[in-house]
Amino acid sequence: MSSFFKFKFNNFLDIAKSPEVFDWMMSMRRKIHENPELGYEEFETSKLIRSELDKMDIPYKHPVAITGVIGYIGTGLPPFVALRADMDALPIQEMVEWEHKSKVAGKMHACGHDAHVTMLLAAAKILKHHEKEIQGTVVLVFQPAEEGSGGAKKIIESGVLKSVTAIFGLHVVPELPVGEVGCKSGPILAGSGSFEAKIRGKGGHAAVPQHSIDPILAASNVIISLQYLVSREADPLDSQVVTVAKFQGGSTFNVIPDYVTIGGTYRAFSKQSFNHLRQRIEQIIVGQAAVHRCNATVDFLDDVKPSYPPTVNDSNLHEHFVNVAVNMLGINKVNSAVTPSMGAEDFSFYQEVMPGYFFMLGVQNASHNPSESSLHSPYLEINEDGFPYGAALHASLASTYLLKHQQNMPGATDTKYHDEV
Ligand SMILES: [Zn+2]
Ligand SMILES: [Zn+2]
Repeated sequence: MSSFFKFKFNNFLDIAKSPEVFDWMMSMRRKIHENPELGYEEFETSKLIRSELDKMDIPYKHPVAITGVIGYIGTGLPPFVALRADMDALPIQEMVEWEHKSKVAGKMHACGHDAHVTMLLAAAKILKHHEKEIQGTVVLVFQPAEEGSGGAKKIIESGVLKSVTAIFGLHVVPELPVGEVGCKSGPILAGSGSFEAKIRGKGGHAAVPQHSIDPILAASNVIISLQYLVSREADPLDSQVVTVAKFQGGSTFNVIPDYVTIGGTYRAFSKQSFNHLRQRIEQIIVGQAAVHRCNATVDFLDDVKPSYPPTVNDSNLHEHFVNVAVNMLGINKVNSAVTPSMGAEDFSFYQEVMPGYFFMLGVQNASHNPSESSLHSPYLEINEDGFPYGAALHASLASTYLLKHQQNMPGATDTKYHDEV
């Protein structure tokens, strides 16, 4: 860590904890929490973000990927480093009774993206305050539709990040104490894909099976056969998942239906394993259905639910992150080798085109009950005391990255952000 950094940027956590910033963060988060919006429908959230950026005098581009907002702090010149927050909620009815409970029936910020937006706004506030010392440009990425629709992919496709050389993102974790972070170099979250298959037989009277072709029995064998992919074909040291989570067929006791629909998810940490699973899932469904005289078609839902690549952290950025986090939180608060999870994140789309780093931020509640207060649970309760750490880490990661990578590139002046976007 340079002495310049220590001199200029070492008080970010104090600023983030100051009543002025902390109280403002609470009001932001609670406002967003009360009005959750699903993917690509984050219109009010987006409006709130823009009005706060306006108040801070931070220029931005909007709309990007429908509701997305891209803000700029610093010189407007390279290097460019991005900080990302996702904005969408989930179709879940909140079950926590508190003053700022979701006001929208059936929708809830149950993945903590309200906290992510809040912390990035606070980081923006802190960075704007230090704008003169920033040696390059921080790009704020407020992204829609992380939950299943791959909003990150749309942001990339819009081209707004083409000059960015690194991106950081975080996720709140209710199992991790406040003031602690979890991270690792390399794969941290799995790649994830979905499949749906229609297995067609021939319906008829359940008492006369010889006149029908039973798709229920065929589908049952398909599901059993899919279990061999992970247990027999995959390397036991290369974690993978194939889960059939949907089975729909028939509606009464005495009729064999015409068809059955099954669906599920598959996960892996390497592209190779992921592609192998995808190929074999199709072969097994089609082949096993044929054994039972049925026809099967398999849909990987690429248009509606794009598969997410594995989230793989860059090793140089890992070193950078650990330096910043240890300096801010102390070595005991930084777990730099967390166990990867089979969960997935569309942050991985950014990492396909630039080095990226994704880490976990502690927001554990004193009354934390692991079986209830988890991500995607209607009982999720986030400890807002964790927010200053996320905001300060964002601000510090970006500002010190730019210090490290500051350039005196000839011709740099003609890549100002407003020409760029
Ligand atoms: Zn989620
Ligand atoms: Zn999430």
